[in-house]
Amino acid sequence: MAGARVDGWPAFSARTRLLVIAPHPDDETLATGLLVQQVLAAGGEVGVVLLTPGDNNPWPQRALERRWRIGAEERRRWARRRAAELQQALATLGVPPTALHVLDWPDLGVTRRLLQATGVAVDTVRDAIDRFGPDLIAVPALQDRHPDHSAAHVLVRLALVGHPAPPRLLAYLVHGKATDHRALSVPATPAQRAGKQTALQAHRSQLALSARRLRRLAERDETFLDPDEPPSMVSAALPWHPPRGLRPWLRLDVVNPAMTQRWAWRQAPLRRAADGTLRLLLPVPARATPCFVRLSLGLHSPWIFDHWGWCQVDASEPAFVADVAPLDRPS
Ligand SMILES: [Zn+2]
Repeated sequence: MAGARVDGWPAFSARTRLLVIAPHPDDETLATGLLVQQVLAAGGEVGVVLLTPGDNNPWPQRALERRWRIGAEERRRWARRRAAELQQALATLGVPPTALHVLDWPDLGVTRRLLQATGVAVDTVRDAIDRFGPDLIAVPALQDRHPDHSAAHVLVRLALVGHPAPPRLLAYLVHGKATDHRALSVPATPAQRAGKQTALQAHRSQLALSARRLRRLAERDETFLDPDEPPSMVSAALPWHPPRGLRPWLRLDVVNPAMTQRWAWRQAPLRRAADGTLRLLLPVPARATPCFVRLSLGLHSPWIFDHWGWCQVDASEPAFVADVAPLDRPS
């Protein structure tokens, strides 16, 4: 392996098979441009699964095409443009065109896929993983504020439930601040850092309005989290305390291997525990692991990023049932 060995970092070899899950063209470079080059330098193989073509990207498109109205044909054109940019970026990183597997889901529609098509989206991701047979998967972090990224994380985690030899997951964060100090940094060489910047240049459509932000993102150390928390680290408490005034618009989604369901806040199976935190109280057959919960506002907004987003909870623990009170009872 090129570069220094870092504690906890996987040793790459000719047997390493890295699968990159990229919600949009440019994530492969911004989040894994160094990792990909490291695996290839060790003689390993890299596959990329692209979830969406990144066609729902109206402001750069308006700026570059000098038109206001973006209809279906314009979106298709933008998708073709971004596909070509992705191919060029992958070639720069050393990844052959045959390594790319495109799912072609709607941009900004990954959460809907996860929540609506029960089981279908998970099966599609499982097939993509099985097709490549990775021992490492680079996946967006659950904490990422872009809803396509966090939903991609949930899909991969569910797709690996019951896997006979689950690949190691390396979770990357593109949108939002990393708060976990256990992240591993890719020990890259200066040539690999330069290669990543060159690959980023291929994404001209994205550099049009955001060149400084993207170059800054590509310059920083590439870090990954291990999302496979030991079960004892997953809390039973939900991390949110949404203001009372927003409750009429709040939606709670719960996804685990046994269920996919959305509730309005007041109908959600929530109880307040003695310590003041909110707990999810699922019927026993629905207490499957891993269990992911998303809090969102059911209002249309031009702001695409999540305020609360997803978290993983331990909803399997029957012990807490004894210490909870109904949500709407004053505590
Ligand atoms: Zn993205």
